Amino acid sequence: MTTPAVRLQEVSRTFEGSPPVRALCEVELEIGKGESVAIVGPSGSGKSTLLHVLGLLDQPTSGRYDLDGVDVAGMRDSQRAGLRGRSIGFVFQDFHLLRHRTVTENVMTALLYNRVPRRERKARAVTALERVGLDHRKDATPETLSGGERQRVAIARAVVSEPVLLLADEPTGNLDSATGASVLEVFEALQRDGITIVVATHDEAVSGVAGRSVSIVDGVLSEARAGVTP
Ligand code: ADP
Ligand code: MG
Repeated sequence: MTTPAVRLQEVSRTFEGSPPVRALCEVELEIGKGESVAIVGPSGSGKSTLLHVLGLLDQPTSGRYDLDGVDVAGMRDSQRAGLRGRSIGFVFQDFHLLRHRTVTENVMTALLYNRVPRRERKARAVTALERVGLDHRKDATPETLSGGERQRVAIARAVVSEPVLLLADEPTGNLDSATGASVLEVFEALQRDGITIVVATHDEAVSGVAGRSVSIVDGVLSEARAGVTP
């Protein structure tokens, strides 16, 4: 039996407050290596919270998370940060690029903590930029790129470390549909390469490119009904 990339068991996340917000309720989720999964749900349903937990940016209030067979619950912050750097690629809705660095330098930042020598970091960044079709803009700064190109740089940065898991939170949310389509093509190509992808979205065009959809409403996750494939 191969180890799943992700296994969540009874994962809940409650935010303190009055009243407290239960953003995730006893989530059960297993994602095999090479699977692409869309997390679909309305605004406020818990998609980002789930991705932050999966990406080790946040911790469950209760429940168990195994990432590539490793129980991450008992880890110290420094261990978790190290594991995140090695194992997780994260694509945010608003790109999160460094404005005054070149495209190549932006991608190289993802390798800073992986003990890769500088020369090799650069070569790997250029290879990642080829994968997203942007090697011809490698010396540009993000300000001179379109929104879709910026997001493709962010995707290159997310995959350059060859993570176990690529997470994308509303990756086309700031893009018009034509530009968003160019980003989705990149995800489809990565999927064909066998990368494990989880994408949170409320956009059907985005969920359509994933092999599997799960829906989330008020923090409760459920597998999309069988037989409704497009
Ligand atoms: P989505 O990404 O689906 O729009 P979120 O995961 O961002 O939903 O939010 C789920 C719920 O948790 C919402 O009710 C939101 O207000 C709440 N929430 C998210 N982050 C926090 C936080 N840091 N503190 C308090 N409540 C939060
Ligand atoms: Mg969100």
